[in-house]
Amino acid sequence: MVRLRNCFVIFSFFLFAIFLIPNLNAQVSQKSALPGLPQTASLVGNTSALAQEAQGWLVDLVKINTTNPPGNEQAAAKYVAGVLAKEGINAELIDLAPGRSAVVARLRSTAVADPSKALLLVAHMDVVGVERTRWSVDPFAGVIKDGYLWGRGSIDDKSMVAANLAAFIALKRGAVHLNRDVIFLGTADEEQFGDASLRMIIAKYWDKIAAGYALNEGGQVMVRNGKVEYVGVQASEKVSVNVNLSATGKGGHSSTPTKDNPVVHLASAVEKIGNYTASVHLTSIVRRYFEALAPLEDEETSKWMRVIDTPDRGEHALRVLSDQNPMWNSMMRDTIAPTVFQAGFRANVIPTDAHAVINVRLVPGDTIDLLVNDLKKLVNDPMIKFDIQPEGGFAAPNSSLETDFYALITKVTAQEFGGVPVIPFMSTGATDSAQLRLHNVQAYGLRPMPLNEADLMRVHGDDERLPLAAFAKGVDCMTRIVAEFSSNH
Ligand SMILES: [Zn+2]
Repeated sequence: MVRLRNCFVIFSFFLFAIFLIPNLNAQVSQKSALPGLPQTASLVGNTSALAQEAQGWLVDLVKINTTNPPGNEQAAAKYVAGVLAKEGINAELIDLAPGRSAVVARLRSTAVADPSKALLLVAHMDVVGVERTRWSVDPFAGVIKDGYLWGRGSIDDKSMVAANLAAFIALKRGAVHLNRDVIFLGTADEEQFGDASLRMIIAKYWDKIAAGYALNEGGQVMVRNGKVEYVGVQASEKVSVNVNLSATGKGGHSSTPTKDNPVVHLASAVEKIGNYTASVHLTSIVRRYFEALAPLEDEETSKWMRVIDTPDRGEHALRVLSDQNPMWNSMMRDTIAPTVFQAGFRANVIPTDAHAVINVRLVPGDTIDLLVNDLKKLVNDPMIKFDIQPEGGFAAPNSSLETDFYALITKVTAQEFGGVPVIPFMSTGATDSAQLRLHNVQAYGLRPMPLNEADLMRVHGDDERLPLAAFAKGVDCMTRIVAEFSSNH
């Protein structure tokens, strides 16, 4: 389920790429002159040596097998603490379960911390499993060939652990005058979202990581035909909730069927629910997203994006856009996907019950109770029971697009990647950032390594690999963002 959660993030990007990108090409190539962009003050200087060093940390981290389950993130946490110790930075291991630890370190700006100003750099150290026989290299050997680092976690998310580490260490080495605390956090158990995950750190050790701002995975620098086309910054995400459906009847011999066959009732209910389209609910982030995208789209699509809020043509525009791209559809409304259907055990027996699961993805702000009420009315069958599962996602407010931090991310990434558009978005999949947002953290998703669709598709798949040039670029970008945001200059 959590794998799905993350796959959805990746899949969203893939859709984003497939559906949007063909039209971006021409626009971007004309924009490479960077008109009007001020240069970032070079607080960190040339980062190529640092990136080379960070690449070594990344290789070492990939070699530490943190497949979750069981995780064994403690080994990675100790490694990170060791790297920090060489810099004279004290890191603390937070033990969450046997063999499972997070690692946290802090660079202080003042003797008394002001959590509301602090910046949290968060990345997870666990990885999903591999089907070894399908890999062309050993996924835990840290193989470098053809300009790539190959291995599980080389992108998701050890590239971020290493890049965050580099940005953090650059502050220390540069003796940067900090205007806020900067906190490095390597988490465990993100892929299973279990008891050793960020959820537990927030519940038990909040004071160790309390921050007003955070950078996490969830965003992307998209490449097509060898060129960066846009930077997507995740500022919001949908909320996943499962609802169990069940039907119970008398059952009996299939030679004498009656009207109360639970298979028939459940099938009918699932059919209605599967074809239901919830009404549109545009959040402020999604409005900004379409606004930013409209100038980059072909004339026809752009025309519809510009009128989504108008009373006369808005409704039609939303229908056109929903039909054009499943991700756009999902960004506009609650979606419901029936995912499990179980009934029967023998060909000549009518079973006494049947079960299904529907996975709901709520737009933040919508509530599952209201939606389920609508579905009950739609199904209109007393035999169908709805059971909302408690282990749902977190309904969090958006991160603001008006913060200085968001403005800085936009400025630095635009500079770094040739003036391409920087577009905020709401991911249709879930990340750990929702929990941070619930604690008043302005959390943004950004993986500043330019990647194409082919490489993104390897995440959670076979032969995951990171272009080394993209990693160096990511280290540079991350270091500049962090240094500029947290320095008195
Ligand atoms: Zn991840």
